Amino acid sequence: MSRFLERAARARLLAERYPESREGLLFAAAISDWQARGEGLEELRALVHRIGPPVLRNAPATHKWFSRVMAELAPPAIRGHAPHENECPLCGNPPQLGVLRPEGHGSALTLACSACRREWPFPRARCPGCGETDPDKIAFGATDAFPAIQTMTCDSCWCYIHLIDLGKDPRAVPEADELSAQPLDVWAIEQGYRKLTPNWIGL
Ligand SMILES: [Zn+2]
Ligand SMILES: [Zn+2]
Repeated sequence: MSRFLERAARARLLAERYPESREGLLFAAAISDWQARGEGLEELRALVHRIGPPVLRNAPATHKWFSRVMAELAPPAIRGHAPHENECPLCGNPPQLGVLRPEGHGSALTLACSACRREWPFPRARCPGCGETDPDKIAFGATDAFPAIQTMTCDSCWCYIHLIDLGKDPRAVPEADELSAQPLDVWAIEQGYRKLTPNWIGL
């Protein structure tokens, strides 16, 4: 199964499990199906017009949201500068989320690009927004409703990012599971944090 179909299937399964995030997950599933079909921008625009978030429904094809979705199919190469540690080594975009995989007695962190989805290693306890490493400034929020997700917050730059723990749920598909965590987004935003990079549904 292609990664797009795998993501679509996971998003539909999570839509049943998390009613609060259902609409966004079904939208993401439809986009992933579009990616798997290999259709063009016009088909994507028609899809967004039909079931996308209101803010995107009448957006022009030049809107950056579209270039971001297209970028996953054909990642642009970096031009001009070497990426910073918190930028995608392939296309230079900021991370969407973190992925934790079991390693030794703990877990190793990679960041996943918000555009092309490439992953790259990143220190476990450093803020991917500003580089803060002071443990008093970095916190990891978790709730029983999302056993495989931690919400990492930074009190230096006031950003947050979700970390998807594949050690807790090996069946997780990070981009889909990230979209299921809308209650954690609401919690973080109410605390005054902002998402390091908004996801497909703008959260
Ligand atoms: Zn990238
Ligand atoms: Zn920070």
